[in-house]
Amino acid sequence: MPGAEAITFHTPLAGLKGIGPKAAADLAGLGITRLGHLLAHLPMRHERIEAEAPLRTLKAEQIVAARGEITATRLAGTRGKERLEAVLCDDTGRIDLVWFNGAFLRKSIMPGARLRVQGKTRQRGPGLQLANPQYEILDGDEPPAEARIRPVYPASEAIASRRIERAVGAVLDRALPLIEDHLPEDYRRERALPALRDAYRMIHRPADEREALEARRRLAFDELLLLQLGVHLRRRETRMSRRAPRLACSPAVDAHIRKRLSFALTGAQNTVVAEIARDLARDMPANRLLQGDVGSGKTAVALYAMLLAVAGRHQAALMAPSEILAEQHAATIGDMLRGSRVRVALLTGSTPKADRPGLLKRLRAGEIDILIGTHALLTEDVAFASLALVVVDEQHRFGVHQRARLRAKAEDASSAPHVLVMTATPIPRTLAITLFGDLDVSTITGLPPGRKPVRTRVVPSARRAEVLAWARTRLEAGEQAYIVAPSIDESEDLASVEALHTALGDGPFAGLALGVLHGRLKAADRERVMRRFRAGEVHALVCTTIIEVGVDVPNASIMIVESADRFGLAQLHQLRGRIGRGTRPSVCVLIGDPATPESQARLEAARTISDGFALAERDFELRGPGEVFGARQSGLPPFKVADLMRDRELLALARRDAAAWIERSPGLAAPDEKLLRARLLKTYGEALGLADVG
Ligand code: ADP
Ligand code: MG
Repeated sequence: MPGAEAITFHTPLAGLKGIGPKAAADLAGLGITRLGHLLAHLPMRHERIEAEAPLRTLKAEQIVAARGEITATRLAGTRGKERLEAVLCDDTGRIDLVWFNGAFLRKSIMPGARLRVQGKTRQRGPGLQLANPQYEILDGDEPPAEARIRPVYPASEAIASRRIERAVGAVLDRALPLIEDHLPEDYRRERALPALRDAYRMIHRPADEREALEARRRLAFDELLLLQLGVHLRRRETRMSRRAPRLACSPAVDAHIRKRLSFALTGAQNTVVAEIARDLARDMPANRLLQGDVGSGKTAVALYAMLLAVAGRHQAALMAPSEILAEQHAATIGDMLRGSRVRVALLTGSTPKADRPGLLKRLRAGEIDILIGTHALLTEDVAFASLALVVVDEQHRFGVHQRARLRAKAEDASSAPHVLVMTATPIPRTLAITLFGDLDVSTITGLPPGRKPVRTRVVPSARRAEVLAWARTRLEAGEQAYIVAPSIDESEDLASVEALHTALGDGPFAGLALGVLHGRLKAADRERVMRRFRAGEVHALVCTTIIEVGVDVPNASIMIVESADRFGLAQLHQLRGRIGRGTRPSVCVLIGDPATPESQARLEAARTISDGFALAERDFELRGPGEVFGARQSGLPPFKVADLMRDRELLALARRDAAAWIERSPGLAAPDEKLLRARLLKTYGEALGLADVG
């Protein structure tokens, strides 16, 4: 019997009844080749289609739909900005149509063409007009559309949303019965969520707006719940199945460690240190996020924790997001530990090949106590004798994925190091929950004593010369500055920093000692530049955003950011965190001519908000989470339906439910959880490093 072949999600679309060869080929261009792909190709949004009405019955200022024949067209307006005007007639009357900048439509909207149009009417003289109406050219006797909600699909040049809709329509009824719900029925009812099958029907073919919303809610919730379950599952897995070394902190050890720091810890640092020490004293692997604004003194806290590991005769690792930062950590930590027995080593991509084997050997033999490095630490051949603690600096650069790999650096599958991740990019609460739902959170509030907040000024480029002249007088008086080159893209940043360096050296900063710093320099050159800058031998460092994170030179009190409107808000905040680290009042000048309301708002926020957390929330509002914290960076597959901004409440619900769920049913092993577990592992198993908990 034709059409009754057993179909599955894997059935190729080509050859499937209802899908023509042309449609199959065009869909393939979007990567949609199988039934399952088509079903999972969800609409981005829905739009209302109005019922068609006779032209004579239309009134002004209403959203209407009508069909008729084009009886006349003409191009009007100035060259290059022509509008297409047309007259549409049916048996009852006429209406004027206009498309601004519509010259290109001339070839399809011609006298004789039959059109369906939809838009808002307005009075124009004695008659009505539709400006920029949606339109559809009718090629046959398509029946009049009834009022309905229509899905709008991600489409391509080759295949428009309408054709995708038709293809979905042709197979939907056969595909829906294949869908199995992974949520147990009781749970679903309790949460008033529609069945998965219904949700797919309603998102592809909603009867009304309410259905489209209900479908979206279910599918968004599924994404959030799956991720939260995954995160909690992993948290539990790590906690239950692996043991970390207990790192006891006696008063003697505490006093010994504090002697190594050149300052007394602040109250906030002490609180956090106590929280961490409590974590480390247990054999349950700690997993803590340490948040603290730029300059709040996270390094000292990290060092304290690492020295606890060393005191317990274990090893610690510190992973930084860039070589320059790893080098700096190695330098400052090396300084603080000078004269002690603690052995510190640095391992980055720039570590000479010849040095590497010896270093790795000492590491394996336990002859290195603290290893500092970049993600080079994640390479497979890096093995520790007894790794008790991993500190990850500036977490926002690392995903959960990398953390999972770090954890695997323990000696065997039954042990795991404690993990402390630090970030100065205050992650808005909502995002922290989503992406780091498995972390305990500590926060350093406030800044160390003596730190003066950085004053930020926004100056148009017309006054750039004044700014540089002012900076010059301060540099001549012994202060130091960072001049940050405009960020274009990675490939061009280099050219931009070198051009800026030359221009400054030949012009406003002639005679001053300038240094250049960018990512393409060899490690040794970079180190030399930084050393000279730190030693005060260089007045100004012309640099890329390479200095964005973590660089700590207290004498630098001036920062000038060129084309600041091209930088993100978080980035600007990180950048200016490089100054205000000494006792001098520091000034950050953002030179820029913001061209859009958004970039204006961004600079205004940078100027007026100095608290990193408040700024992050503002950034989140201005740009949405995707950009602030891209899925790419998190290492997780992106959401298709859920939107962290819009779905904050669903997220909170998913988080609560997931925590309770894993508590109640840690293995997700009940018969009605089987499918849920399978889908969870399929979606997030790899990204979250989940073992199959069967
Ligand atoms: P961040 O949190 O951005 O990593 P750092 O750890 O680099 O901040 O610390 C910023 C500066 O504050 C450093 O120069 C550090 O030596 C100094 N600092 C940290 N803690 C204290 C403290 N308790 N008292 C005085 N200075 C401190
Ligand atoms: Mg830091």
